[in-house]
Amino acid sequence: MARYTGPACRLCRREKVKLFLKGARCESPKCAIERRPFPPGDHGRDRMRQGSEYQTQLREKQKARRIYGVLERQFRNMYEEANRQAGITGENLLRMLELRVDNVTYRAMFGTSRTQARQLVSHGHVLVNGKRVTIPSYRLRVGDVVSLAPKSRDLITIRQNLDTIDRPIPGWLESEDSGNAVKIRALPEREQIDTQVREQLIVELYSK
Ligand code: SF4
Repeated sequence: MARYTGPACRLCRREKVKLFLKGARCESPKCAIERRPFPPGDHGRDRMRQGSEYQTQLREKQKARRIYGVLERQFRNMYEEANRQAGITGENLLRMLELRVDNVTYRAMFGTSRTQARQLVSHGHVLVNGKRVTIPSYRLRVGDVVSLAPKSRDLITIRQNLDTIDRPIPGWLESEDSGNAVKIRALPEREQIDTQVREQLIVELYSK
């Protein structure tokens, strides 16, 4: 499926916040937002003003899409599905995004960023319940176990990630097999989802 392959830092600058798309670089002084904290383009600085209500909602939706690496059509479909489910639509949407196998691979610290986690999945380094899954958008269920393929456990990149990434594992995941696997303990609650996205604005945008 087509996806954005341009510079990741440009996306952060457009949203005017760190989206943490490049792993360790995001925490370093090399982060583009630290050096050029205004949107890209000739008139980037002009875009620093607060926009209309519509623009605020649109930017929030774009921010969520970019954080999770989801294209517009797929994101819209997820919203429609979230809207059909019982409960709060915004929270349903975030829950669906969190349950993507590429996101869980990132949360399990197999990858430094969601982009790297996505690549690990599509290159066959990740198993779900012991079977290889190469579709990054594959949605996990409670009880599923996401693990590293046996041959991938000793890859330098993965070992380095597991040894150096210092992020807490969210409460809805349980680490297993000395950190080489995680189990989905429960559906993520809103307060367990560590994200900057204000999902209510996305719901307002799509329900216009
Ligand atoms: Fe965004 Fe990371 Fe680039 Fe900083 S380094 S602008 S947080 S992708």
